[in-house]
Amino acid sequence: MTSELAGGQVVIEILYLIASVLFILSLKWMSSPTTARHGIWAGEAGMLLAICGTLLHHGIIDYKLIAIALVLGTIIGVPLGRVQMTAVPQRTALSHAFGALCVTLVGSAEYYLRAPNISRFMMSVLAIEVILGGLTVTGSLMAAGKLQEILPQRPLTYKGQNFVNFLLLAGAVVIAVWLVVHPDAKTLFPIMILIALTFGVLLIIPIGGADMPTVISLLNGYAGLSAAAMGFVLDSKLLIIAGALDGSSGLILSIIMSKAMNRSFTNVLFGAFGQVLTAGAAAEEAKPVRSAIPEEAAAILSAASRVIVIPGYGMAVAQAQHKVRELYDSLSKRGVDVRFAIHPVAGRMPGHMNVLLAEADIPYDRLIEMDEINGDFPQTDVALVIGANDVTNPAARSDSSSPIFGMPILDVDKAHTVMVIKRSMNPGFAGIDNPLYYLDNTLMLFGDAKAFVGNIVRELTGGQHS
Ligand code: NDP
Repeated sequence: MTSELAGGQVVIEILYLIASVLFILSLKWMSSPTTARHGIWAGEAGMLLAICGTLLHHGIIDYKLIAIALVLGTIIGVPLGRVQMTAVPQRTALSHAFGALCVTLVGSAEYYLRAPNISRFMMSVLAIEVILGGLTVTGSLMAAGKLQEILPQRPLTYKGQNFVNFLLLAGAVVIAVWLVVHPDAKTLFPIMILIALTFGVLLIIPIGGADMPTVISLLNGYAGLSAAAMGFVLDSKLLIIAGALDGSSGLILSIIMSKAMNRSFTNVLFGAFGQVLTAGAAAEEAKPVRSAIPEEAAAILSAASRVIVIPGYGMAVAQAQHKVRELYDSLSKRGVDVRFAIHPVAGRMPGHMNVLLAEADIPYDRLIEMDEINGDFPQTDVALVIGANDVTNPAARSDSSSPIFGMPILDVDKAHTVMVIKRSMNPGFAGIDNPLYYLDNTLMLFGDAKAFVGNIVRELTGGQHS
């Protein structure tokens, strides 16, 4: 190696080292709302340095293809970055699909460039890379399709499904082992990828929409691990570090989310959760509910001492967070103690409610996590549910036949009065009826969350707000 080349390599390694440190700091900072912005900047800066380091690589002899890829990536990436916040989970799933596709293609290219001269270790890593990558590509596309409602959200199940899935995975592993021993069996390599791609589809179809957040997080973990495997193949320490960080954080988040739903991984993956959907809802529709108008809701709220607001997906859809802030202000001015109960899977992505309420400048110390606030509902005058449904469903606590039985919920039904803002009696994401709405202490406030909260605020402020 000439001294110029060696110097270039040192610069690249330094850039990669700084990028790795920035990725680690990014994850650390993103774990707290007060430092989250720094976390985003650190992650972006790390990625920029990683790209710069890669572009300096002496192996690159022509930048034309890279320039074309950059333009294509920008054309696809810019609109993807501009989606509504409610569409972030499916957008994230698409990112995983792109990342995993890249990993699978690089792995395939490396195999055909190197075969049959591949060590057993390298062939094992390559097989892990393309199997994880392949199943993540189609699995993530399926998850995105389910969340975007292009595909049916309901679990699609058939007899012997888990056995078929197991057979497929076993088939891919057997081929991988064969290739480790006989790396020259080139025709088997695309069959292994094809099986992984099929497995990704079949893995996701029996999973209901309500479990998609956990599954996306799991696929994030797979994408990260496959990227780490690619790091071994390409001898890139940066990829190994970034992939391991991505893989482990995805897996840890899946475990946290599964715990929040009181579910095991195997139950999420093989349980066909959400299968018993609207049948219950249809049966319950005839039951009477009590409803109220904004004037009545405002009177109840202003007479309260302690109010807990429970935001959910409907608040995000209605973009009601700024009106909710106005409600918080006017109630606080009247001396009402207002806090917000945050369920870990409220909305459509982890932290969804925190982000929206922070956007509306609601003081962060007013946002209380589920475990911490649940004991306070019996001493609460009003639980005001704004566009939340599944996360308040008492059937999860008491009805062992409910598909969400065991999922921890916010115990809003224990408050003296419960008021629920939503547009209709339609079910939430899990597609099941909510017995909360038929309780004697529940009042339904039918309407769009933004409009209804706005009307309550107008009543409270004597018409000073629109
Ligand atoms: P849900 O989906 O259970 O309920 C949302 C409710 O909002 C609906 O019942 C709907 O009723 C109401 N709504 C919709 N639009 C409006 C509007 N404009 N104004 C007023 N109300 C509205 O949401 P939750 O937050 O309670 O629970 C989240 C669910 O999503 C869980 O099942 C969770 O597993 C799942 N999930 C969570 C993800 C996450 O990471 N947080 C990601 C993906 C799914 P109506 O139509 O009658 O108005």
